[in-house]
Amino acid sequence: MAAVTLERLTKRYDRAPRAALDELSLAVADGEFLVLLGPSGCGKTTALRCVAGLEEPTAGTIRIGAREVTRLAPGARDVAMVFQNYALYPHLAVRHNLSFALEMRRVPRPEITRRVADVAARLGLTELLDRRPGELSGGQRQRVALGRAMVRNPAVFLLDEPLSNLDAQLRGELRAELLALHRSLGATMLYVTHDQVEAMTMGERIAVLHEGRLRQVGAPRDVYERPADTFVARFIGSPGMNIFDAARADGGRGVLIGGSLTVETDVTVDGAFQVGVRPEHVALRARGRGAGQGEGQVRIVEPLGAETLVHLDVGTTRLVARMRGLRAPAVGDRVGVRIDAGDLHVFDGRGVRRA
Ligand code: ATP
Repeated sequence: MAAVTLERLTKRYDRAPRAALDELSLAVADGEFLVLLGPSGCGKTTALRCVAGLEEPTAGTIRIGAREVTRLAPGARDVAMVFQNYALYPHLAVRHNLSFALEMRRVPRPEITRRVADVAARLGLTELLDRRPGELSGGQRQRVALGRAMVRNPAVFLLDEPLSNLDAQLRGELRAELLALHRSLGATMLYVTHDQVEAMTMGERIAVLHEGRLRQVGAPRDVYERPADTFVARFIGSPGMNIFDAARADGGRGVLIGGSLTVETDVTVDGAFQVGVRPEHVALRARGRGAGQGEGQVRIVEPLGAETLVHLDVGTTRLVARMRGLRAPAVGDRVGVRIDAGDLHVFDGRGVRRA
């Protein structure tokens, strides 16, 4: 196993208006499960393909362990990539899909047989070795794709949205399987996804990309609790953080949200600024109990079972509150709204975190 170190990795495609990857610097520790997260087009796949050697960077360096591999051929890098569409050979049985890469490398036959049997057993594929990919379920195909990477025993696994074609239940199961596999192999894994739930549940650390640039890297909890900017704050969480243009409250210590809701706080920012609050930190109370610092009117109610999302108009702005269970006000109700100062995130005019 080995660490992966990217230094100012940049990729420009011809005629593209901006760099697909813009000076990405990132150190993935040996044995770490790091998730590259971001919306479509942010450069995640490009980064992975550069590490795999399938794309040549315009500038910057890639190291695997102590070795610089920036210009090495894919086969010389000791990495294995698992693609979104699995890319299995349809005419080959599972057994040969698993053994193919080893045969190409002229690994001795007994060794191939041993490794294929071992990986098949670990992934629950032993009974399926003689089937072709067309005779497998999506989850089974996904395991074959992983198995194909595993037989090579690479220093680094590169996984490009490997669960995205599966239904929600299978995705949940395979998330857990993949994490168990990571623990047992102790392998370095670089995992690309646009799904923040996947990132939060799987990543030891998450690197958030936007328009080719790294916005933040950290443990899921850090990224959730202390997002570096308003992009990360909105992207992580479902729904994301409420963000508002804010103003100083008249004559007092505090910020004014939507022109009507005042939250007392000592935080000061010069010039224009924004504040954010997670939906679970917006408390709604029946009107008239004096509990709220402001008032809102309910626009939409989304009952999800364990929780209910309530969309409100508060003065000139809108926000989402998350309430436990299914008890919630009705559309059109006027409710008191309360936000604790400690739950407020403060960003400057450019959206960068200040407090
Ligand atoms: P997705 O989640 O949709 O796969 P991504 O984050 O993986 O997106 P990339 O595939 O890395 O994004 O693409 C990053 C940017 O580079 C995009 O703007 C894309 O249009 C552009 N791009 C990717 N491949 C090429 C190419 N071969 N030629 C020109 N532009 C490209």
